[in-house]
Amino acid sequence: MTTSKKTRLQKTSSSEGAAAIRDAAKYLANTYKRPELVFTHGKGCKLYDHKGRAYLDFLGGIAVNALGYAHPRLVATIRREAGRATHVSNLFHNPFQGPLAKKLAKWSGMDRVFYTNSGAEAVEAALKLARARARSKYGDSKTRILALENSFHGRTFGALSITWPIKYRQPFAPLLSGVEFVKFNDVADLEAKFDDTVCAIIMETIQGEGGIYPVSETFWQRARKLATQHDAALIADEIQCGLGRTGRAFACQKFSDAPDIVVIAKPLAAGVPLGAMLAKESFASVLAPGMHGTTFGGGPLACAVALEFLNVMEDEKLLTNVRERGAELREGLAMLAKKHSFIKEIRGEGLMVGVQLSVEGAPYVAEALRNRVLINCTHETTLRFLPPYIVKSKDVKEFIKRMDVVFSTVSKAQSKTADAARAQKTEPAHDTRTLAAAR
Ligand SMILES: *Cc1c(COP(=O)(O)O)cnc(C)c1O
Repeated sequence: MTTSKKTRLQKTSSSEGAAAIRDAAKYLANTYKRPELVFTHGKGCKLYDHKGRAYLDFLGGIAVNALGYAHPRLVATIRREAGRATHVSNLFHNPFQGPLAKKLAKWSGMDRVFYTNSGAEAVEAALKLARARARSKYGDSKTRILALENSFHGRTFGALSITWPIKYRQPFAPLLSGVEFVKFNDVADLEAKFDDTVCAIIMETIQGEGGIYPVSETFWQRARKLATQHDAALIADEIQCGLGRTGRAFACQKFSDAPDIVVIAKPLAAGVPLGAMLAKESFASVLAPGMHGTTFGGGPLACAVALEFLNVMEDEKLLTNVRERGAELREGLAMLAKKHSFIKEIRGEGLMVGVQLSVEGAPYVAEALRNRVLINCTHETTLRFLPPYIVKSKDVKEFIKRMDVVFSTVSKAQSKTADAARAQKTEPAHDTRTLAAAR
């Protein structure tokens, strides 16, 4: 490709960028609050905006861009399949569903795979499978589903029904009946709520949106025992923490006992929409043709990319990179915690890291953006880092350096605001507007 053609492909002019933002404001459903930026392309761990500015991406499309941007092997796969067949429908075989399912079974220890287009759809498939199996074996008395407090499983009705924050659920009530929430890592509460009427318990092995909180080994083992005893499904939601994010293929592989069903999505096709439900044969065998389905799920393009992604993971030994860079990241953050007293805790594993602040996180996210670093804040006071698995030591060093500046700048601005507020005898408000006003 010539340079001029390449430039033309990649460049969105400043005025085109401004027009995209105007159109979005006028025509998009108002579901996201976004900064006035248009990201046009990326390379590795860098993302570029419409003004050509480079950002160090430690959010990775919310745990999706495991190989960063424009990874040569993924680009080649997408180009190749775009010229063959992007879709053939699930009425026929395509060349990649079977081989990808074989690899996912090998990685996970599960037996069978159902493909979806998103995480929420994979959760739906898991809930439906658990209900169908319980009904086929025990009739209609075994329908209850247990989920954990502080959970996030997605936005469709079923997934939403097992998602904890009331602000997500309340506008859409009534939701699925038969759902009960168990106190996080509370074995006594789990035992009190588990009985023969439960068909499934679902949990994120490490809660993501909830602020990077891992399920304890004791809780997992007890859930496993109770699920077996009552013949219910233990479902691991590994949509965010799975497929290498923790430095293991699946986060729940740190426990000696396996779940019955695992749901995955975010990084599965490294940026092309694809999710999957993986299940043990004793559960999957309930499914028969016609019971469940999807038009788009498991299309040849998405499955080819996912297969290539998993091959890249193996060829480039990325699990090792995730563990090593993750350790460097947490080390760097521990140094920053010594210096900045509002950093209370560093949680997580591999490249799934949460930094617990004693103050609101939003101003730090905004300041990071000004310093050309992409992160986000979840659960109000937890900064979340989910960098691509290909991140290098020098990226981690650069990130720590810039976050040091971010932490210093915001806390200085806030103490200035607090001083001014004290002078006026009013309470300081810890939000972005305060920061903006202070600058
Ligand atoms: C993102 C996420 C989901 C929902 O996935 P979507 O693709 O947005 O539907 C479900 N569970 C967990 C743990 C997630 O992080």
